[in-house]
Amino acid sequence: MLGNQYGKTHGMYKSITYSSWRSMIHRCTNVKGRQYPDYGGRGITVHEDWRKFENFLADMGERPSRDYSLDRIDNDGNYEPSNCRWATRSEQQKNKRPARLREKCKRGHVFAETGVYVNKNGGRQCKVCAKARARARA
Ligand SMILES: [Zn+2]
Repeated sequence: MLGNQYGKTHGMYKSITYSSWRSMIHRCTNVKGRQYPDYGGRGITVHEDWRKFENFLADMGERPSRDYSLDRIDNDGNYEPSNCRWATRSEQQKNKRPARLREKCKRGHVFAETGVYVNKNGGRQCKVCAKARARARA
């Protein structure tokens, strides 16, 4: 029984599900990776349980086919069970937000480095400029 279980799990390491999982980890953790700035560098993290492939597989199920990829429903959200689904490219396009969120303020401060305030309208403001304005008013 145990041997069977192991064999099944072990076989998954060559699967397309596993390659999606490995890419996800890579995008969020490998600082030298080409995609890192858009993922880990932007504060996107992988759910703690999902750092183990078996847990990821248990939550997400197998990737239906190569036409599907791992999609984050909220593009600013993390890789976690409530924010992920297998989706085709056209499904992902439909889900795209109309405008890409700004990642820098007008003066060029990068939000990922300075921190960001989000107001109730969804506007984003860097903390460095916000503090400077507060000081100027005082
Ligand atoms: Zn700024």
